[in-house]
Amino acid sequence: MEMEKLLTQQRAWFRTGATLGSTARKKALEALYQAVKNMEGDIALALERDLGKAPCESYLCETGLVLHEIRYHLAHVKRWMSAGPGPVPWLHFPARSEIRPRPLGVTLIISPWNYPFHLCLMPLIGALSAGCCAVVKPSEYAPATAQVVERVLKRALPREQAAVVQGGREETEKLLEQPFDHIFFTGSQAVGRVVMGAAAKNLTPVTLELGGKSPVILDRTADLKTAARRIAFGKVLNAGQTCVAPDYLLLEQGLQEQFLIHYRAALDDFFPGGNLDQMARMVSRRHFEEKKKLLAGQNAAIGGGWDDGAGKISPAVLVDVDPSSPVMQEEIFAPILPVIPWRTLDEAIAFVRDRPRPLALYLFTRDKGVERRVLGECDFGGGCVNDTVIHLASPGLPFGGVGPSGMGQYHGKYSFDAFSHPQAIVRRGSRPHIPVRDLPYTGGKERLARWMLR
Ligand code: NAD
Repeated sequence: MEMEKLLTQQRAWFRTGATLGSTARKKALEALYQAVKNMEGDIALALERDLGKAPCESYLCETGLVLHEIRYHLAHVKRWMSAGPGPVPWLHFPARSEIRPRPLGVTLIISPWNYPFHLCLMPLIGALSAGCCAVVKPSEYAPATAQVVERVLKRALPREQAAVVQGGREETEKLLEQPFDHIFFTGSQAVGRVVMGAAAKNLTPVTLELGGKSPVILDRTADLKTAARRIAFGKVLNAGQTCVAPDYLLLEQGLQEQFLIHYRAALDDFFPGGNLDQMARMVSRRHFEEKKKLLAGQNAAIGGGWDDGAGKISPAVLVDVDPSSPVMQEEIFAPILPVIPWRTLDEAIAFVRDRPRPLALYLFTRDKGVERRVLGECDFGGGCVNDTVIHLASPGLPFGGVGPSGMGQYHGKYSFDAFSHPQAIVRRGSRPHIPVRDLPYTGGKERLARWMLR
């Protein structure tokens, strides 16, 4: 009942047109910006409580990125929302065509726990700049951040425009029964299937931001020292609990020893004296216990241990890994890097292509031919050449998966598009009326139609 009521309130608000104008959109974005700015300390504290994130990492990956994205939308939303000209085919002459972005309406945003602030707010920014209303459902696994998200939204916006519904599986299932105009889901592939199934009942369109195993391919031309450092950064960021974390490494044969030296040196630099205080912990005891099991029976060339008290898995590199072992079957989501050697590039590419299309792929090489082949032959959501993860932090780039790693994309203009419908309008005067298409059809009209549509 509560959820139905909320949806009815948001729908009524949306119908007043209060969210539509550029001034209203900017006001909403500015209010959100101010609320986030004012509550920066509370946000950092909540992320520390839920995941043990260091304040710098919280700013870098959550609050800072959100503020940056809001500023980007504020700078561009007026242009994005204005109607643009469309081409006019000869057949319709004389006429003018227009493409008018229209907000989708009342939307549902469901978020996971790993970047629990970022992943509630980033889609919401798109919804607001597109002129939509939104119900946000944070993850129950990050309860402190879920509360902060609710407080930020309460401070910034009327409940009719953006509201939080707290809860887990049961509450989300109830929300999914409601006839929203769009569902934006970030989370696992398993729940993505549930969301899409529920959405189908109301024919509600979905954006799915899912996960998967994102490979790194490294060849002998790469700068091993920099590569090891950048892979280690992607792997220990949020303790590997990042949707685009480098999941496993496909390493050209003969490089393992050197790579391990550089990876170990990078970890020594990141965590002086082996102190892991600045690395996040596993989100829950259950997740921690599950990740420990991934190490069983593996040959850890680096790490391989954990800290039971802190709930942290030490950064690890696994060698001699059997591709059929559990660590190579599921998304790892922990600072554990399995290494799989390859002899020919064909082998490395086939390894990626034989598996579900990943959310990200990272290539370390200085060989343009290798780059052309990997980018040309492998399908994946997005990625980097000679780095990891950073493609996610660019508002000018679309972010999203392909196939089982996701459906649709967002960030910057792509977020605006995700929550908008490009409405096509052909505008004509009443005169002249050229009766070419009118009945009765004649041979001459058909010949003309064939010529015009050639
Ligand atoms: P999850 O799928 O378990 O949960 C996501 C949301 O769905 C939560 O709000 C949860 O309450 C809800 N939920 C859980 N079970 C449900 C059910 N049966 N029915 C309805 N709703 C349900 O995901 P998670 O464990 O919170 O997050 C980790 C996953 O998210 C990883 O697979 C990761 O790769 C993915 N992820 C993807 C992105 C991306 O941008 N593509 C970003 C972050 C995380």
